Parts: sequence; structure tokens; C-alpha cells
Amino acid sequence: MPVDLHLHSTKSDGTSTPEEVVGAAVSAGLSAIALTDHDNLDGITAARAAAGSAGLGFIPGTELSVGWEGGAMHMLVYFLEPEPGPLQDRLSAVREGRTSRNHEIVAALQELGVDISYDEVSAEAQGSGIGRPHIAAVLVAKGVVDDIQEAFDRLLATGRPAYRPRLRLEAMEAIGLARASGAVPVIAHPHTLGIPEGGYRVAFEELIKAGLGGIEAYYGEYSQELRSHLAQLCNDLGIVATGGSDYHGRYKPNLSVGTGRGDLRVPDETVDRLVEERNRPPLRAR
Ligand code: AMP
Ligand code: ZN
Ligand code: FE
Ligand code: FE
Repeated sequence: MPVDLHLHSTKSDGTSTPEEVVGAAVSAGLSAIALTDHDNLDGITAARAAAGSAGLGFIPGTELSVGWEGGAMHMLVYFLEPEPGPLQDRLSAVREGRTSRNHEIVAALQELGVDISYDEVSAEAQGSGIGRPHIAAVLVAKGVVDDIQEAFDRLLATGRPAYRPRLRLEAMEAIGLARASGAVPVIAHPHTLGIPEGGYRVAFEELIKAGLGGIEAYYGEYSQELRSHLAQLCNDLGIVATGGSDYHGRYKPNLSVGTGRGDLRVPDETVDRLVEERNRPPLRAR
């Protein structure tokens, strides 16, 4: 039975509660999931309990936006427990940075003449884990744009007028902190990095030496060709090919838990490979 290792809930910018995400995974016939809300582990306890009752395998996780060669990289971190630890402790500063950035974006929109308030965004997000998709959803509800994608394309995406940067860890730092916390860092949806065909090995050499454990090869929005290409690459590099749908509920229409756009299938061996990766000896001893 397949798995899905990239899922967002209401604890960040998804529209399904952690329990609903688990329910959808069970309905999809999955054997295991990872919950990977942005920058927080707030849904882990509830999701793990629901998964336990349903006999579904569960990996605690999060997704970070990290700095990499001047751009942004998303990093999934698996087996990160909601308890004090080196990475967990740094995440509170990252969350504070997210909050101040959200206020800056709303102020920028107001300056552009858009009628929007922080309270509306907070209500849309049900108070926690606020991110740009919530701001986008408010803009849709108010008729400023037709859909969430248009809100990003016109206003919120990197480089658009209401975009504001936020505090983020550097890739190397995040990898070190993740490993020091007993967790496995994995590069999410690597196509967003704009690395040319054949350039991955060189691009990721240093990150792999530092402890990068995998690349998200089976991604809901990728063609089958790209998925197999990336899985082969992971094999060559000696790291894990992970995968998931990047489900966000209504904020990313037409993406389902487990099946992505309909043709996603992440093999369940992925979980065993991630467990092995977590238990590998300290990197210097490899
Ligand atoms: P934030 O955490 O506030 O930076 O928002 C990140 C989320 O916004 C991602 O998980 C995506 O779901 C969404 N997102 C980011 N960039 C875009 C884009 N260009 N188009 C559509 N959605 C985007
Ligand atoms: Zn998101
Ligand atoms: Fe992402
Ligand atoms: Fe994601």
C-alpha cells in the first residue's frame, strides 16, 4: 500500500484538520503518512493519535523554507518530535519571523489600496500557522482576485508587490540542526530550485556530506518521467527518494491525499529507507 509523506493541515496552511488528513489517508488506502505543516509541530500529537487508532503508520515532520545560494529551498524534516531539541528550539524564532512578515504583507496590501485587515486573515487561518495562502483566500473571498493562484501571481509570489521576505534558516544550518535533533532532512519539490538537468549531483554534494537524507522524487505535481528520473538520481547519490502530494485541502485545488493529481504512488519502502537513514551512524563515520 502506498504512503504520502507531504501533507498540510489546519495547523499551517491546509484546510483539513490533522484528524481529517488521517481520515483521508485511510480512505485512500495508504499504509503510512507524514504530517509536514510549515515551521511547526502543532498537529503531530493529534495526527499520531488518530493514525494509531486507524492502524496507519505515522512519521512526525515539518516543512521549512531555507536559504540556499541566494534563493529559497523547501526542506522536509522527518522524525522531528514535538519536544525540546536543537531544531525545535530554533523554530520559535522562525515562527515569530513568519508572524511579523504576515503583518508586513497585510500592510503592503493596504498601501496598494486593497481593503484587507489582519483580523480577516487570522479568522481565515483559525488563528494559527498563518501563511500566504490564508491571505490569498481572503483576497478571493473579497473579490480582489478570482482564485488563489491569481493572488500569488499578481501580489504575493516572490518579487510581486506585496511579497515580503521572512526569517529563515540556511540550508546547511537546517540540516545540521535536524540531524542533531535525530531527524532526517529532505529537499522538497526540487524543481523549484531551477537546477539544470544533470546539475543535481554537484548542487547537492555539500548538502549530502552535511547530512541531507533524501530528495522528494515522487511529487504530486511531477510527470512520471521526472519522478523516475529523480528516484534514479537518489539511488545514484545514496540518499532516499521520498514523495508526497503536498495536499493543502481547498488551498491547492485538484490535489488529493495519497494520489496527488490522480497518478501519484509513493512506494511504502520509502518509510523503511527513511528509518534506515535516521539510524545511520554519525556522518563523519560513513
Ligand atoms: P508561506 O509559508 O506564507 O511563505 O506560504 C507558502 C505556501 O504558499 C506554499 O506552501 C504554497 O502552498 C504557497 N505558494 C507559494 N508560492 C506560490 C506560488 N507562486 N503560487 C501558488 N502558491 C504558492
Ligand atoms: Zn503550504
Ligand atoms: Fe513546499
Ligand atoms: Fe508543502
